[in-house]
Amino acid sequence: MSRVGDGRITKVVIVGGGTAGWMAAAALSRTMDNLSIRLVESDAIGTVGVGEATIPAIRLFNALIGIDENEFIRETGGTFKLGIQFHDWGRIGDVYMHAFGQIGRSLGMLPFQQYWLRGRNEGVAGRLGDYSLNETAGRQNRFARLPQIPNTSLDGIAYAFHFDAALYAAYLRKISEAAGVERTEGQIASVRRNGESGHVEAVVLENGTAIEGELFIDCSGFRALLIEEALETGFEDWTHWLPCDRAIAVPSENAGPARPYTQAIAHKAGWQWRIPLQHRTGNGHVFCSDFIGEDEATAILLAHVEGRPLADPRTLRFRTGMRKKAWNANVVALGLASGFLEPLESTSIHLIQNGIAKLLAHFPDRDFDTANIDAYNRRVRFDYERIRDFVILHYHANQRTDAPFWVRCREMGIPETLARKIELFKSQGQIVREGDELFIEIGWFQVLTGQNILPGGYHPMADQLTRDELAGFFADIETIVARTASHLTGHEDFIAQHCAAGVPA
Ligand code: FAD
Repeated sequence: MSRVGDGRITKVVIVGGGTAGWMAAAALSRTMDNLSIRLVESDAIGTVGVGEATIPAIRLFNALIGIDENEFIRETGGTFKLGIQFHDWGRIGDVYMHAFGQIGRSLGMLPFQQYWLRGRNEGVAGRLGDYSLNETAGRQNRFARLPQIPNTSLDGIAYAFHFDAALYAAYLRKISEAAGVERTEGQIASVRRNGESGHVEAVVLENGTAIEGELFIDCSGFRALLIEEALETGFEDWTHWLPCDRAIAVPSENAGPARPYTQAIAHKAGWQWRIPLQHRTGNGHVFCSDFIGEDEATAILLAHVEGRPLADPRTLRFRTGMRKKAWNANVVALGLASGFLEPLESTSIHLIQNGIAKLLAHFPDRDFDTANIDAYNRRVRFDYERIRDFVILHYHANQRTDAPFWVRCREMGIPETLARKIELFKSQGQIVREGDELFIEIGWFQVLTGQNILPGGYHPMADQLTRDELAGFFADIETIVARTASHLTGHEDFIAQHCAAGVPA
């Protein structure tokens, strides 16, 4: 908490103008008064240029900075996202969706999934996705903003977005500059630190200009210019659990109507994303270089791109893991500078948003109290570790025998926290969401069952219905979901009506 007077931070310097830098600039400038905020970025270095799929929590960020959703989608070439469809993850030929939002409904204390487990055993329950409005609408390429299914207790559509990363940064820049953020273009050549405290005092550009600040936010991407190059904070490597270390990315023409979901298609040593935007599709192949080379990875990607490629494929290299401390001294790292998991569940932008929200909650004084910094670091670590576990589950829970990569992922050791979750699920189908971890029970349930991990039993309370009642319960929900989905607008029509590029506000 800020004390009145001298202790207040007044000068913030953000290093980097990718998604992380401009999200931080937009959020700070819209929420904090009396701060002078300067963002430094280098056009010559540029941004990572990927990161185009999100999860529903981004709508909270949009609300925080007060943006109009239709304008945001229009300006970023965006589309709506109802979930992620996974192909070939458990076994070749498997398809399942991790759909956002509610599936079915609970009865009394017991969640829907327990009834579904019983219904499945007794042959009265259909596919899990038949009880999800998000999945049913997604399969039909339909969308609407519908928070609740009218006249029922069922939730409506839960959604996130796909957007063009470059357009998103440009859009946030416009918002931030309008709110008073100043931008400096130039390459940082060195970092000046205080001889006593070790705190960063200034970043110095190649032309000799020193940019001074009190709080520095390191959004310099994989370079981690301040948090690592200057402060040598250290990196915790998770490649033994998340071994993919490269991606080949290529945009392509849209080959059909934009789907309202991301696709994640497993290949022999990794997986491919397809992210539909209004004006193109983003494609990429994430892979493990221990198992295939870049040429083969590129060939696999190009063989599975649906439309004509619009650029040459480019390679991105990364290492999974997180910075030992996201906040060190007077430097807070956000985005790729703070760590990287995997794009599989579209969580990186969320982790940026989460880091910003927690920074606002723990906003320091100039004394940079260590109890405050430690609390921030503990919370950020918890978030990273729980998301890490969820991502590892996708790799680990496979039954593929066709490729050594998948065998290795199945046989590798996993974190204790994940092992406990899987064991509990196998015994009685239970999933316990601990603290405020990001992914909710039904998210875990979809991935576990979608990848053929099924428990031996179900909760005894699910026996409170007769078999006929149970069948009726499923039939009712399926009918409501199917009827509601069939009345929604086509996804592309919805965009054309409300938020297409070129449609006036
Ligand atoms: P960058 O975009 O790399 O920006 C770094 C900035 O620092 C640039 O402006 C650069 O100019 C500046 N800079 C660096 N050095 C200097 C210097 N010396 N002087 C001045 N400026 C400097 N996330 C998702 O949420 N969803 C996804 O679908 C997704 N897909 C991904 C796929 C891949 C293959 C990868 C690698 C990442 C993906 N991500 C995804 C993560 C996402 O791309 C990043 O979280 C996001 O783009 C933020 O990047 P950033 O701003 O931290 O870094």
